[in-house]
Amino acid sequence: MYEEQHQRMPVEIKSKKELDLMRAAGKIVAEVLSAMDAHAKPGVTTGELEKRARAILEKYGATSPFLGYPNAKRNLPPFPGWICASVNDEIVHGIPRAKRVLYDGDLLKIDVGAFYGGFIGDSAWTFAIGDVSAQARRLMQVTEAALYQGIAQVQLNKRLWDVIAAIQTQVESNDFTVIREYQGHGVGRQMHEEPSIPNFLDKEFDKRPTNIALKAGMTIAIEPMVVTGKWDTKVLGDKWTVVTKDHGLAAHYEHTVAVTDNGPEILTLWK
Ligand code: MG
Ligand code: MG
Repeated sequence: MYEEQHQRMPVEIKSKKELDLMRAAGKIVAEVLSAMDAHAKPGVTTGELEKRARAILEKYGATSPFLGYPNAKRNLPPFPGWICASVNDEIVHGIPRAKRVLYDGDLLKIDVGAFYGGFIGDSAWTFAIGDVSAQARRLMQVTEAALYQGIAQVQLNKRLWDVIAAIQTQVESNDFTVIREYQGHGVGRQMHEEPSIPNFLDKEFDKRPTNIALKAGMTIAIEPMVVTGKWDTKVLGDKWTVVTKDHGLAAHYEHTVAVTDNGPEILTLWK
């Protein structure tokens, strides 16, 4: 079942010292997400949440690896926000805005990165604003469980496809859908390093990553993006915000995880 294909680039193994720096960056990200959890309420704007996030990053002398991130399409604007804030059918890369008020029943996804000491922590969470629908609740529960089931596979005797299969199985056995066009990734000095970590292993897409063996010192961002409808996406006129084409609801959970001799170490844990 597992085929070892040729890798594009070697997956970086972090030294003990580098892992300490990754832990420090991850801790800052965790503090930001904890603050987002405390303040994401009806009536608050995504612009206000961005200000709070920025204040915490700046308190540590950290910067946002998202701010100024180049657009995948040349000649389009770089990302203008310190965090990503995506609401309801927006999946990822939503731009925080001073006028974007959160309402009771909204499903908010906040993605946070911290660049600190030369290394990056990357984590995303989904927040229920006030009372959300039963479907939204179930989507949150299933997607969070998919993240942790993927993380549970981060063991020295496992391979990358074990992580991906655990996520896809959890999502699809609950009748939700994983996004195909966006994925997790190795993370370290760069926000996006090898390996790519999609959340599916469908043969027909022919985009399956190399089924690498997990080795101690690898640091990866595992991030299921899950929707209630079809996986097809489009990018809004702001050139960044990714939405579901059918306007199905989306959830997104992400942790930066180190592979250790004793299994997974979550570097961005906050709750
Ligand atoms: Mg992220
Ligand atoms: Mg990421």
